[in-house]
Amino acid sequence: MTLASSAASKVLIVGAGLSGAVIGRHLAQSGYEVKIVDSRDHIGGNCHTERDAETDVMVHIYGPHIFHTDDEEVWNYVNEFETFMPYKNRVKTTSKGQVFSLPVNLHTINQFFGKTMRPDEAHKFITEEQADTSISDPQTFEEQAMRFVGKDLYEAFFKGYTMKQWGCHPSELPASILKRLPVRFNYDDNYFFHKFQGMPENGYTVMIERMLDCPGITVELNTTFTADMAEGYDHVFYAGPLDGYFDFKLGRLGYRTLDFERFNYQGDYQGCAVMNYGEVDVPYTRITEHKHFAPWESHEGSVCYREFSREAEPADIPYYPIRQVKEKALLNEYVDLANATDGVTFVGRLGTYRYLDMDVTIREALDTARGFVAAREQGDKVPAFFVAPV
Ligand code: UDP
Repeated sequence: MTLASSAASKVLIVGAGLSGAVIGRHLAQSGYEVKIVDSRDHIGGNCHTERDAETDVMVHIYGPHIFHTDDEEVWNYVNEFETFMPYKNRVKTTSKGQVFSLPVNLHTINQFFGKTMRPDEAHKFITEEQADTSISDPQTFEEQAMRFVGKDLYEAFFKGYTMKQWGCHPSELPASILKRLPVRFNYDDNYFFHKFQGMPENGYTVMIERMLDCPGITVELNTTFTADMAEGYDHVFYAGPLDGYFDFKLGRLGYRTLDFERFNYQGDYQGCAVMNYGEVDVPYTRITEHKHFAPWESHEGSVCYREFSREAEPADIPYYPIRQVKEKALLNEYVDLANATDGVTFVGRLGTYRYLDMDVTIREALDTARGFVAAREQGDKVPAFFVAPV
């Protein structure tokens, strides 16, 4: 364990979500005095989970979070704080009056085209009769979809959903968004392809509470960061929105926000955790039924969320960074500003304006905390970003 020198011993962390908790714990264990502030009345950021009073169902308050990773160190890390129960995300989608299996797999393809193809036949069919092979290097979401699944599947499952989710045409979005989803020529309907996957037995908030339960850490909720709070601290880790740190003085970075229409139901509402709606005329993108995220529990009642996506207004909770050409140009300006600012490091989804899965957030937070301790030991300048946002 490295002990921080008394002259460099106090850090302020803004945000008690995953990034703040992981960095805070590592620094507290390295001898730093850590204060974490969060404007909300709970820890956990958007991973926050809470039991519903009426049904006792564990609710993912800001929408579903499923833990999946190939990073063994991160998997072992989260398992130190909470038991992870086996969970496989199996997503369904409703389109054209039928329910299909996602990600696109052999069942989806056979059902959609009314066929009984084997894997190699389906592969041949998709690549030779469906995919647009004239697209050699897909740049946009639409090109990626046309290149790998073709027009019919694209229009049934991706086009409408994506227009609702992102508020623009898929030809204006980068191919990388679709690359998150596999296409399979077998009956594997696991939404993720990572080696480790699971759900925290008692929710994410309990896990994060245990991370924060460490000598040297104090947490102050209902506390909105203002620049004067940094006084007396050796360094600030800022997990809030990058543009917010600079009072939006160059303009606002665009986000999509989500509205959840929450409803309770007696019994099993939809028989699965996630039902997507592929068509643009259904106004919501998906319905999530939270008790199915905890299949080891049994509940009579049920809690569901209808999920609607729209452009975030200043007062809304930011969810998905938009990162189109316009936003990237503004992001570059904020990055320059941040790099010219001493004493603060930007972390996490909002601090680096990137869509981050939980495992990547934890990986980056661990690397950031270690990088910070090493920089201090060597007397190096602490960078504004340990992971470049662009
Ligand atoms: N997507 C889609 N149809 C679906 C599910 C996903 O078109 O039924 C698209 C959509 O644009 C989404 C992207 O694929 O943003 C990535 O999907 P993922 O499930 O990873 O979405 P996230 O976890 O970001 O909500």
